[in-house]
Amino acid sequence: MNWKRNIQVLDLDPDIRLELVCRKCKKLRWLTGKELLKRQTAKFLYLEDIERRARCRQRGCRGTMRMAMPGEGETSGFIGGIA
Ligand SMILES: [Zn+2]
Repeated sequence: MNWKRNIQVLDLDPDIRLELVCRKCKKLRWLTGKELLKRQTAKFLYLEDIERRARCRQRGCRGTMRMAMPGEGETSGFIGGIA
């Protein structure tokens, strides 16, 4: 099942921390539910859309990000980032 397509920002627990890993430079940053819920425009988006819009903040990188739930990254590793 694709949870990114099923979960809306509105459904998120404010305390949840989502992992965003840059597909290009592998830089990781955390996105909290609270942070997303604060953005009026993001509220009705699905996590899939958040992931698609996320860009790496590293200078000169601007790579696309891969989103993972806490813990999920450990089992799937960086497989999604190699391609
Ligand atoms: Zn990057």
